[in-house]
Amino acid sequence: MIPAEFNYEVADSVDHALSLLAGYGPEAKLLAGGHSLIPMMKLRFARPSALVDIGRIAALSYVEQDDGHIRIGAGTRHHDVHHSPLIEAGCPLLSFTAGLIGDPQVRHKGTIGGSVAHGDPASDLPTVLLALDAEFVLTGSGGATRVVPASDFFKGFFETAIGPEEILTEIRVPKLGASSGWSYLKFSRRAQDWAIVGVAAIVERSNGGIGSARVALTNMGATPLRASSVEQALAGAERDAIPAAAAMAPEGTSPTSDTNAGANYRRHLADVLVGRAVEEALGGP
Ligand SMILES: Cc1cc2nc3c(=O)[nH]c(=O)nc-3n(C[C@H](O)[C@H](O)[C@H](O)COP(=O)(O)OP(=O)(O)OC[C@H]3O[C@@H](n4cnc5c(N)ncnc54)[C@H](O)[C@@H]3O)c2cc1C
Repeated sequence: MIPAEFNYEVADSVDHALSLLAGYGPEAKLLAGGHSLIPMMKLRFARPSALVDIGRIAALSYVEQDDGHIRIGAGTRHHDVHHSPLIEAGCPLLSFTAGLIGDPQVRHKGTIGGSVAHGDPASDLPTVLLALDAEFVLTGSGGATRVVPASDFFKGFFETAIGPEEILTEIRVPKLGASSGWSYLKFSRRAQDWAIVGVAAIVERSNGGIGSARVALTNMGATPLRASSVEQALAGAERDAIPAAAAMAPEGTSPTSDTNAGANYRRHLADVLVGRAVEEALGGP
């Protein structure tokens, strides 16, 4: 299919992109890697009046660190997130998961900011960032910024906290400590497919058992979801508590049925994958 007609502008800075967005109004859209937006335009699910291309703003592509956080520019490609030594050292869960996205072509074009801003509950990085308690920096008119925690960011199906005249400019991820184990498990029918269900788990180990756990789910509702009941059941628990806790994974979810899987199958997968992911994150025998 061919997209509907649109204007196209190349922004050379965040300020330039913001002024172009303001000029074109709410029907304009930012274009980053184009690997989610262009397919939607070809299917005519999206018909923006103008595209403001931010994919060439070099200042949006970086990985830096401070004491407790890694700061990632929203325009950083999945390939660069996957191969960043800083992310691998400070937050290996994130670099590992970026390497599971699509195929090399998708990873060379798609950006972490585009993945987050798109708000697709089947995407992998939003789930991982929710489990990590990441923060999102939004830049608006005049360069004003606000910081939104991941828990408040994903509002609904393809809906986020980003305002019509705002740009997601940075993702801040707390570093994982030596006592943190992690896992991301993605179940799909074919290699390189989207997740039918995915699970991110981060376990703080304590005396061979679980101190605390953070668990988040991909494709189990309109947004990525924290599995709060599972987290509560695992807090301060021993390894043998994992199966009963994992069985709570479907609580509070609302998975859809589609050609890949029915809702009940997704609930079953959530139970099985949460158990496996928490075991993997805990490590040991
Ligand atoms: C064949 C294929 C396979 C894929 N497989 C997977 C997969 O397995 N797992 C997975 O998670 N994803 C997958 N994807 C999606 C891929 O990761 C996309 O690249 C990503 O979701 C969107 O990033 P983008 O940079 O391409 O964004 P774009 O498509 O350019 O933009 C997406 C949306 O975000 C908005 N946007 C982009 N950047 C910003 C910003 N900085 N601030 C505010 N709004 C912004 C745009 O306006 C648009 O609405 C796949 C895509 C394809 C085509």
